Amino acid sequence: MRLILLGPPGAGKGTQAKRLMAAHGIPQLSTGDMLRAAVKAETEIGLKAKDIMARGDLVPDAVVVGIIEERIEEPDCANGFILDGFPRTVAQAEALEKVLHHHKMDLDAVLQLEVDENALAARVEQRVAESGDAVREDDTVEALKKRLTVYREQTAPLVDHYREVGNLVTIDGMQSIDEVTQSIQDALSSGQGSRIRAAG
Ligand code: ADP
Repeated sequence: MRLILLGPPGAGKGTQAKRLMAAHGIPQLSTGDMLRAAVKAETEIGLKAKDIMARGDLVPDAVVVGIIEERIEEPDCANGFILDGFPRTVAQAEALEKVLHHHKMDLDAVLQLEVDENALAARVEQRVAESGDAVREDDTVEALKKRLTVYREQTAPLVDHYREVGNLVTIDGMQSIDEVTQSIQDALSSGQGSRIRAAG
């Protein structure tokens, strides 16, 4: 099963990705996690991405597309994967389509976690409070504002993009964590994303 989790920062993509990973035995591919690892390891990509990420901007499309393309060729992705935080721009979505086509892979569903924007700041603040010393450099009020603006301008258009492609599944992300998991499970077992795609 190949899935995309789509939603603004703080929507709960990471939490649901981990649950999907456990339920389906497929890896979570988080470009945010991969980039943070690159920053930590001070690789060439990490050095380039560090300041961009800290201020809440997007790293260049070519960088993340390259990372994802390499990653999905790994053997643990043979049965599928969950993309978390990618694609984030229409250009990334189009590049992904090319990569998937090249590998004769198809997307099963794009799960959009829909949340009330007013709740997001509070969720990120809670994450900061809970993470103690391990605070992310971009979990500041200022960077979060920037990340939300970037989401609205560059990532939100993907909702329409995938609605047109025909595999968008909208999930109410304001429910409890367990309820969101259940809604996702229900949508997937009813074949929502793929059925719409097959029909369209
Ligand atoms: P969030 O909690 O905001 O969803 P992520 O962990 O997914 O955060 O990403 C953190 C940062 O990493 C982003 O603000 C951005 O700078 C960079 N990043 C992650 N994924 C991408 C991507 N697909 N394209 C460009 N930049 C990305």
